[in-house]
Amino acid sequence: MSQLKFGDLKPKIILGIAAHPDDLDFGAAGTLAKFAKAGAEIHYLILTDGSKGSDQPDMTPAQLVKLRQKEQQQAVKIIGGKGVDFLNYTDGELEITMKLKSDIVKVIRRVRPDVVVTMDPTMVYSPARGFINHPDHRAAGQATLDAVFPLARDHLAFPELFEAGLLPHKTATVLLINFDQNNYVVDVSNSFDIKIAALKAHASQVVDIDLVENRMREHAELIGRQAGYQLAESFMRIDIAG
Ligand SMILES: [Zn+2]
Repeated sequence: MSQLKFGDLKPKIILGIAAHPDDLDFGAAGTLAKFAKAGAEIHYLILTDGSKGSDQPDMTPAQLVKLRQKEQQQAVKIIGGKGVDFLNYTDGELEITMKLKSDIVKVIRRVRPDVVVTMDPTMVYSPARGFINHPDHRAAGQATLDAVFPLARDHLAFPELFEAGLLPHKTATVLLINFDQNNYVVDVSNSFDIKIAALKAHASQVVDIDLVENRMREHAELIGRQAGYQLAESFMRIDIAG
């Protein structure tokens, strides 16, 4: 555990960027709710339209997109967040393109976060958990890292954004959601219930909330033991030098 090398995080503005509605709530809602309670402004940016996430045969993609956006808006409200933007790239087909990076830079320069939360793109698979990471999650994480550094910072990157008044922005800290590895643990004992309420809002995805709550609680207890907390979420934290 290298947690001690980090100072306390007291973000003013947090931007969470993820592939699908529900990703940020599974990975970080306890932390986001905690920071919101402490006065931080929380924004979500969801890159895909979530149009593939259903096993109901009578569900159309258009219905699903609407439903999942509503669920995500509801979850953002529950964690005390300010708002959510949707880029509506096709679910399951997210690619790391300059267009995607430019769209993310646009939001970073508008919201001007001191902390960005996203998925860890180095998480490809986890034999321990019997899990291949969704390619959209990896693309979202990589495009976001590229957008944070160097593209949002450099005024000569995407000059059309600069000309439109979107000034360069340096993000101080990135928190990467990676369920297996971490260097930073956040005590979410007092915001875990809010996380579960936020997950409940994703009713089209969470069929059995008790099962999900038990799984989340077990994981939060396991992570908590690393740092002496009852319940915790963890991240790979990068404080960007200079
Ligand atoms: Zn996802």
